[in-house]
This record gives sequence, C-alpha cells and structure tokens, in this order.
Amino acid sequence: MLLVLPAEAAKLQSWQFDRAQNQLSFKTDEPVQPRVQFLTDPARIVIELPNTSLERRRLRQNETGAIDEIQIRREDDDLAQIIIELDNDYTIDPAQVIVRGTSSTGWTVQLPEPQPQSRSQRRASRNQPAVAVAVIPYVEAATLEAIELSGSQVILRSDRPLSGYSSGWDQATASYQITLPETELARGFTTPRPEPRGALLSLRARQQGTSVVLSLMPAPGVQFGELTASGSSLALNLTGQAQRRGQISRSPLPPLDQLPNVASQRIKVAIDPGHGGRDPGAVGIGGLRETDVVLPVSLKLAEILRNQGVEVVMTRQDEREIDLEPRVSLANRTDADLFVSVHANAISLSRPDVNGIETYYYSTGAAKVLSETIQESLLDATGSNNRGVKQARFYVLHHTHMPATLVELGFVTGAEDARRLADPQYRELLAQGIARGILHYITENF
Ligand SMILES: [Zn+2]
Repeated sequence: MLLVLPAEAAKLQSWQFDRAQNQLSFKTDEPVQPRVQFLTDPARIVIELPNTSLERRRLRQNETGAIDEIQIRREDDDLAQIIIELDNDYTIDPAQVIVRGTSSTGWTVQLPEPQPQSRSQRRASRNQPAVAVAVIPYVEAATLEAIELSGSQVILRSDRPLSGYSSGWDQATASYQITLPETELARGFTTPRPEPRGALLSLRARQQGTSVVLSLMPAPGVQFGELTASGSSLALNLTGQAQRRGQISRSPLPPLDQLPNVASQRIKVAIDPGHGGRDPGAVGIGGLRETDVVLPVSLKLAEILRNQGVEVVMTRQDEREIDLEPRVSLANRTDADLFVSVHANAISLSRPDVNGIETYYYSTGAAKVLSETIQESLLDATGSNNRGVKQARFYVLHHTHMPATLVELGFVTGAEDARRLADPQYRELLAQGIARGILHYITENF
C-alpha cells in the first residue's frame, strides 16, 4: 500500500486588481504553477492555483465598468481560484491575455481592453469551450559577472547557466550583438578593453531592460563562430587571424634563405643609411666608424629586398653627408610604404661590455610592429644581445609619413659587437636579418 502524503500547501498571501491598468497581481507564500483559462457567458478569466489554500471559502470584490467582479474561491481543500468576471456586455480576446511570473511567488495577469459585445454575440459564445491562456513562467535573472578575452574566444561568465540567448549582426549598428535575456550586469561590472591589434576592435556590454546586450566588432579577417554554453559560461568562438596594418606578426619568421617574394604587393621601402661623408657617425674600438658599417649593410639590404620584389629608394648610396630633412622628404615625396633607418650604436670606449641590437619607433601601431618584427628577425639571425624595441622621438621617425623604424645594429664601442661589425660576412647576416623582418612584415600586413 502506498501512502501519499499531501505536499505542504501554499497560501494566497495577497492580491490586487489595478483598474487603470486592467491588471491583476497576486502573491503566494510558496511557489505555485497557475493554470489560466478563458470561459464565456459571462466572459471570464479563471486562474487556478493548485495546492493552494484559502482561509475563506469565497470573497467577492465588485468592480466598475467592463469588469464586473473579482472572485476568490476555495474550490477544493487544495485548489484556489481567482476569477476575473466581465460585465455581460463585454468580452476580451483571450489570445491577448498575458500571465507572467514576476518572482518565484508573484504573478501578474494583464487583460487587454475589454470590447463591447451584443446580446446575440454573447449568446453565440455560450457553448464555446474553455480556452487555455499561456503562462509565462518566472525566470530568475542571471548575473553576468565577467567577460574574458582569450586568443580565440570571448567567454561570458555568469552565476548560473544562461538560456534563451541569441546572436547575430545588427544592421543598425553594423556590429555583432549577443542578447542575454533575463540577465543583469554584476554590480561594478567592467567590460575588458580589447587588446590593440587583437581579434576584436571593440566590445561593449549594456543593460537593456531585463536583457544584457553585448556589441562586438571583429578585426578584419576575424569571423565569429558559434556560441557554445558550458555550465554557467558561454563562449563565442573566433576564427581567422586579424589582418590589418599594425597587426603583430604571429606566424613564425621564414628561414633566412627562404625569403618570400612580395612583388605582387608593389611595396616601396625607403632605406636610410645613417650619417655619411664628413659625418662618419660614431667611432669605436680600433677606429671602427658607424658609416663603414651601415652603408654596406644598407646596400646589401637594398639588393636583397629588390631581389624579393620590393622597390627600394635610398637616401644615400655612397659616402656623402646628408641632412636629416632631405632624408625624410625623399621618403615622403616618393610615397614610400616603409622607412628603415640603419645605424650603429656607441657608448663610452670604457664600456666594451655593452653590446647588442636595439630598434626604435616613434608612433605606436604599425611602426612599432615593424620594429618588433625586424628586431626579432635580427636577434634570430645573429644571436646578438637583445637591447629591446624602444620608443624615441628621432627626427626621421617623427617626420616620416609612413611606418618608420631605426635599427641600431650593435655597438662600435662594444668588444663583441665591434669585432663582428667589422666582418663583411656578419654585415651580410645583418642585412639578411633586416630584410627578413621587412619582408615578413609586408607579407603579414599588406
Ligand atoms: Zn647613428
């Protein structure tokens, strides 16, 4: 024998009818699942609350106008009813009744504007069957706690599984939108800033009514894939690689003897060997002069680039003195795509311990990336000491109109560097290293 114990009954705690809004609201002390029907003659909405007790068997509240009365009835020991009864001369369209949970124990029943009906219409409705009214359950709002940007995903973390979300391109804002219904932004929520040159150009999150709406713009070359839910997090998958000027080169450098041919890109590079003529630049160990390093390296660099399909303009090709201004104006006038100035470094002759390569840029973005790519290639080619990629307001970097970089190939005052810089084979290696950096930058960014 099975003994079925009755579940603990809920109690109808309060209710009220808002005449101006034609809206009934009520609360119970425990969650209940109402059933709602529309019946005719007289037109009425019957809300059944199963497993709900009432202290009084019956309660009527007279209304005015199209609504005749509200009745609260105890149908059974565990079935309460709330009935909204219309005047005989009125009816409503049951399809327009909206029953919605507003909390785990609160509900509203929104009626449409009652419509007058004639006596014959009312008679005709007499034998119509009951019509069920849809009930929209209460969904407890999730809290969006964080957005994380990883290389290939945008991850939304919330306090509970997200449901009912949607995503797609919004024509009005030309952005990709993810809508999270019944979701709130956590208190003090901050949207992470997309990394410069990353897969996202922009990311915004805002509260729009009961939804959180995210707007995302991908970098060119990046596509948005599926949204995948896992527990209480939701991930937007990103595919493709951001492709635009200023993109950090992510693919590995090619081998020094397999440089790409970029003739189809129609790129012009201005090469600027530093100093020259009466200005030999820095003079280091054993009388090693900067110009005797940077001119041969620059000439070799030009040769390699031309062989790989790059148009080259040079600010000088022999030993002559040239001011900074004409170097810049040549590059600007010829509309070069990139500017590469070649120098060698110096510090006191009493510091032979200071050796290594450093590369400078002025404007962040493309120039910085170009500098980083060349620095990386030079270090890889030579195994030299890495003195870093740095920002400096050098004249030739500041006044050129294209991404511009200045390479310091090593220290003529450094014991190790001076020995290597004096070696024609090492200078050829330096030229190859710079050329590879430029060519790699071109293949990644143009
Ligand atoms: Zn110099």
